[in-house]
Amino acid sequence: MSAKPGGDTIFGKIICKEIPCDLLYEDDKCVAFKDIHPQAPIHFLVVPKKPIAHLSKAEDSDAALLGHLMIVGKNCAAEMGLSNGYRFILNEGQDGGQTVNQIHLHVCGGRQMKWPPG
Ligand code: AMP
Repeated sequence: MSAKPGGDTIFGKIICKEIPCDLLYEDDKCVAFKDIHPQAPIHFLVVPKKPIAHLSKAEDSDAALLGHLMIVGKNCAAEMGLSNGYRFILNEGQDGGQTVNQIHLHVCGGRQMKWPPG
């Protein structure tokens, strides 16, 4: 596994500032930036800097980091004005629809979300 922040992925390049993004938040553990193909009026991603390709590869010691992503996600959602609610999504593997092999939390809001998801 690559030691590069965000792994050898497009998100790694974003974290290392090799390609631009619409950055919402950054700390020593993660970044949050707008999704380039938004599926809702507000759609952003929270991505850990530690390379973890899949949720299924996360370790028990990653628990605090994974919780941190949720705290950052809800803080950013509040800053984006999503006072009426929003949805967190974490796609895992092929059947989950994961296309970028670095864990990322989607935060979608600004419209009524449907259930069940596609
Ligand atoms: P997933 O299908 O869960 O792996 O989600 C990957 C997400 O990354 C998709 O919603 C893409 O639109 C998004 N994405 C891919 N490249 C970029 C990029 N350069 N900047 C922002 N979002 C991106």
